[in-house]
Amino acid sequence: MSTLKAVRGTRDLLPPETKLWQHIEATAREVFARYSFGEIRTPIFEDTQLFARGVGEETDIVSKEMFTWEDRARAQSEKAQSLTLRPENTAGVVRAYIEHSLGESGHLQKLYYIGPQFRRERPQRGRYRQFWQIGAEVLGPPSSGSESPLRDAEILEMLAAFLDQLGIRGRKLILNSVGSSSDRPRYIAALREALAPVKSQMCADCQRRADTNPLRVLDCKHPEDQAILASLPKIADFLDDASRAHFASVLAALDACGVPYQVNPRLVRGLDYYTRTTFEFVLESTEGGLGSQNAILGGGRYDGLSEMLGGPRAPGIGFAIGEDRLVLTLQSQREKAAAEVNPAANNPADNNAADMSRVTAGTPALLADAYIAPLGEAQNIAALALARDLRRAGLTIEVGDGSFRLKKSFEFANALARHIVILGEDEAATSIYTVKTFSNGEQQKIPRNELLSLLQS
Ligand code: AMP
Repeated sequence: MSTLKAVRGTRDLLPPETKLWQHIEATAREVFARYSFGEIRTPIFEDTQLFARGVGEETDIVSKEMFTWEDRARAQSEKAQSLTLRPENTAGVVRAYIEHSLGESGHLQKLYYIGPQFRRERPQRGRYRQFWQIGAEVLGPPSSGSESPLRDAEILEMLAAFLDQLGIRGRKLILNSVGSSSDRPRYIAALREALAPVKSQMCADCQRRADTNPLRVLDCKHPEDQAILASLPKIADFLDDASRAHFASVLAALDACGVPYQVNPRLVRGLDYYTRTTFEFVLESTEGGLGSQNAILGGGRYDGLSEMLGGPRAPGIGFAIGEDRLVLTLQSQREKAAAEVNPAANNPADNNAADMSRVTAGTPALLADAYIAPLGEAQNIAALALARDLRRAGLTIEVGDGSFRLKKSFEFANALARHIVILGEDEAATSIYTVKTFSNGEQQKIPRNELLSLLQS
């Protein structure tokens, strides 16, 4: 029979690598809490309309990449409806904001999420069909300060703090303003005009989008179309005074916070809901591990999204970090650091380098404090009871099995733990245990009341 495998573009995350995922997630939670963000968890599937309306029909995501199905009604009270695995999380967060009237408090809502997203993309390193995003959104009624350029700068500074705390090297912030909903029609008219004489030379997607949604032509990745794209008008030349002033204030606040950036007038990002500030953090090619997928996160402002979804006015800004790409980056940067003869001792990323390069798939990332080896199956129960007490005292304990020969117990213990505790008939009767410490090879008899402090050492 053929064996079943994970579906193309999906994969299993295994220990010890999951330790790194946990570390990244714990760092995100810790940093975001300092900026008073709270966690939101939205459903993994939503009404297809949410993404069609929010992200935009003509985007690559909605037109090509969504996992969508017609869901049957199971009872008369239910309607059959089109459902979609979420390809991104901002639309879901804004839907929840509207559904729970979160704006009525009058305060800014600062929400973050961590979870899988789904897009039918062509899989390659750093690009999967199920991938994880860590994202955050700040939104609220205009009276809460949600439109302020301060929000944009604050969120970008938070991202810089997060990436610094993780020890990511070689990051670069690229940003642009794509204007407000009042700038957009003038720019789109200019794009249409510029595209009219050249669109027949472009790819099929561009030819269609030149008519249906000219802004999305700018997302085209076809090498043959790039020369035409470079000759098209730039959105920066179509911003009105208010959008220009907003962007200038964002840049001034970034300067004041010491967050370096580079303005790229071509950065439009592939989702329809963005307004004004859009941004990406990319990795310098030499710091990669990511190859062509060098964008580790992206985001922007979405001042009209709530209204597009039938909600009240609720300007906002958010980002999504590609967690898979962060993991690949940290792994490759740590491997590089470990390979260097004398890694910088005071860099927090490098401190873990030796640890991370030592572990291999199939063994735990960190050694247990002790491995309890029952001698004979009669001691299994006593071993489990001892393990229970030590675990409740906070130790990490592995328990072997009484059917193992002593040699095998030592081999397993040496691979999995810092100490081995031998538990035979005598030990069970006297509560004096034989303990070997692998780091120095010392073997000693230890009474029960001294066991904890020895194993902790
Ligand atoms: P987006 O939601 O398209 O703005 O993407 C935000 C970030 O999510 C990107 O910068 C990537 O780091 C990550 N990302 C997007 N699509 C994928 C994918 N298919 N596989 C892995 N990461 C992705």
